[in-house]
Amino acid sequence: MSSALDSSKLKITKTTAPKTKLPNDQLVFGQSFTDHMLTIEWTAESGWGIPEIKPYGNLSLDPSACVFHYAFELFEGLKAYKDSKGKIRMFRPDMNMKRMNKSAARICLPTFDSEELIKLIGELLKIDGAFIPQERGYSLYIRPTMIGTTAGLGVGIPDRALLYVICSPVGPYYKTGFKAVRLEATDYATRAWPGGVGDKKLGANYAPCIKPQLEAASRGYQQNLWLFGPEKNVTEVGTMNFFVVFQDKATGKKELVTAPLDGTILEGVTRDSILSLARERLNPSEWDVNERYCTITEIASKAESGELVEAFGAGTAAVVSPIKEIGYNGTAINVPLLPGEQFGPLTKQIADWIAELQYGVVESEWSRVVN
Ligand SMILES: *Cc1c(COP(=O)(O)O)cnc(C)c1O
Repeated sequence: MSSALDSSKLKITKTTAPKTKLPNDQLVFGQSFTDHMLTIEWTAESGWGIPEIKPYGNLSLDPSACVFHYAFELFEGLKAYKDSKGKIRMFRPDMNMKRMNKSAARICLPTFDSEELIKLIGELLKIDGAFIPQERGYSLYIRPTMIGTTAGLGVGIPDRALLYVICSPVGPYYKTGFKAVRLEATDYATRAWPGGVGDKKLGANYAPCIKPQLEAASRGYQQNLWLFGPEKNVTEVGTMNFFVVFQDKATGKKELVTAPLDGTILEGVTRDSILSLARERLNPSEWDVNERYCTITEIASKAESGELVEAFGAGTAAVVSPIKEIGYNGTAINVPLLPGEQFGPLTKQIADWIAELQYGVVESEWSRVVN
């Protein structure tokens, strides 16, 4: 009988060597970790084993383990926040669990009951709760990971896997408020393609993106704006979803645009949150909210005609990341910002809306209190 993931079997071993916590201003994204981690082994024979919370530490794996050779690896990224009453809140963890299961299924790693893993992560958060900074802008980045651990070089379906969760206290992405970035529109390298796996959070999708990023950096750009196909559709920015705002000159109507989920776009939780909030809260007589294809030529021509209003990236780490310039074909497309500011009006509005929900200033189903 193969066991389902069962949070009631949790075994806890507490650290005997607690770490000294860094002051908030010394937190660097993903560089320091909490005292404990959650691990759960899986085998094809017995299913999910005993979930364990234990001191953060090295893994021991056979050098022939399939994760090292054939990239049986997937991950998630979500955050926990401490509200003004000191309660711990996770933001939309159900979305991350759903996506994690989709990633696992795609590379033949085991799936699991989402609610059980959310409960287990909740237990880890309670134990390491003192690592979650309470200050606004600060949070705990949670990194659920799954790897295939089958030893042997045959290419095949893993019969052993390890699911683990580590946590890193993080500060605001932009220490001194927003900092708008310059992007290089990239068409010589492709991040994702139809029929591929760019819509899954598989580790294998990320390593090949560093070289194009370095090339863009050598020309003074912080990130790649990934284009796709002969039409040069804009897909994503670095490892974030891309949003752009246009305003029709004749009618004055504004349009918020992001790429449709056609299998080449990562299904961002932040993307989904922004679309829902925009559809719910922006006045429909002034705004259209569209998931549609948008080419770099459309952005260039709308910049030219004065109809480009603002653009930003969206993802868990930064929530929104304003864009000030796109380099394309040797020319610069200037993206407007508010006068004297590093962001556009909607970018700021969305950052505020989402932060209020994350920190529980405004109660919503999206914010899950850990009890
Ligand atoms: C993780 C990720 C995003 C953002 O997803 P969120 O769930 O909002 O954090 C967007 N694009 C890529 C390629 C990603 O890996």
